[in-house]
Amino acid sequence: MPLVPPYIASLQPYQAGRSIEEVKRTYGLTKVIKLASNENPLGASPLAIEAMRRAMDRLNIYPTGGLKLRERLAEQFELKPENVIAGSGSEGIMSNIIRTFLCDEDEVLTTESAFIGFQVLAKGRGVAYRTVPYRGWAYDLPALAAGITERTKIIYLANPNNPTGTIFTRAEFDAFYQHVPERVLIILDEAYCEYAKDNPRYPDSMHYRYDNVITLRTFSKAYGLAGARIGYGFAHEDLIANLLKVKLPFEPGAMAEAAGIGALQDKEFLHRTLEANARGLRTIFQGLRALGVQVIPSDANFVMTVWESESEARRVTEELLGEGVIVRPLGAFGIPNAVRISTGTEPENLEFLDAMEKVMSPAKV
Ligand SMILES: *Cc1c(COP(=O)(O)O)cnc(C)c1O
Repeated sequence: MPLVPPYIASLQPYQAGRSIEEVKRTYGLTKVIKLASNENPLGASPLAIEAMRRAMDRLNIYPTGGLKLRERLAEQFELKPENVIAGSGSEGIMSNIIRTFLCDEDEVLTTESAFIGFQVLAKGRGVAYRTVPYRGWAYDLPALAAGITERTKIIYLANPNNPTGTIFTRAEFDAFYQHVPERVLIILDEAYCEYAKDNPRYPDSMHYRYDNVITLRTFSKAYGLAGARIGYGFAHEDLIANLLKVKLPFEPGAMAEAAGIGALQDKEFLHRTLEANARGLRTIFQGLRALGVQVIPSDANFVMTVWESESEARRVTEELLGEGVIVRPLGAFGIPNAVRISTGTEPENLEFLDAMEKVMSPAKV
């Protein structure tokens, strides 16, 4: 169709994981658990829900573009509101970064099989999209540094990374940063930072600010607000000022902003989430190892498993569905022989391991 640019025509629409309802219907099951989208198994932050209820009374009023949340974030992280942006999820902000900074001739550089949300946004802009392979399922930062060209404009790094769950350290980032010219913008996506922050190897990027780095965070994961669409970013005020020119003036919505403000105060929910996740990671990781599954150590709220072949990964995914467990095959990310499993509640994690044991049993091979 001549109306559609070739770089749009060649995209695949985002394929959400399968829903619990759909799997129940297809397989005739009454109970299905979903460990596929890195959602918070404990629900949403109660303080966020309360704040949203209160915000509902003022839905006739246009929102302020996230100003109040930006002020709260600035307070909490000891910055100025001018260094903070709020948006419709961190992907909403990512989309604004792409519109604000990328020109037609620019290149984007990241790892192979990067977070699919970023892949879709960057490829949808029609610029050159270049990648370097993983090394041991982690970012190969020296190779990325060597891959910078005079046309590189944006480098995307997720720490912890989705879908591998791996992290890079501050020393690794600093060594990499020395090779990055000032004209290159680094997107540091920290969607899972809350889960990683107790690992002493995980850098707290709030303690070092660079003028060409924008840090993105979200309420979707650790605060359980994936459905509300609220995320935020920190950067040099010039970067933020230009993003604010491009952002939709009334993004984020009033309910989403209220959710973020409420969540920020919900230390109790965050604490419960992190405890449950740490336990879940241990349960799933050790359980999978015991079953002989190749599983990558993770600092996020999911683990990646690696299989002999694409068909084996597909078989495992399908048979788990038959057992009432939805997991995420990673073909769309670009790792067709891998499957990602999000942590659930402890009973869900144990049910998943039971199902996996059945799927792995020699009788079925
Ligand atoms: C889940 C996730 C996000 C969150 O996106 P939102 O738009 O804030 O929901 C961002 N980056 C990565 C790597 C993710 O996995």
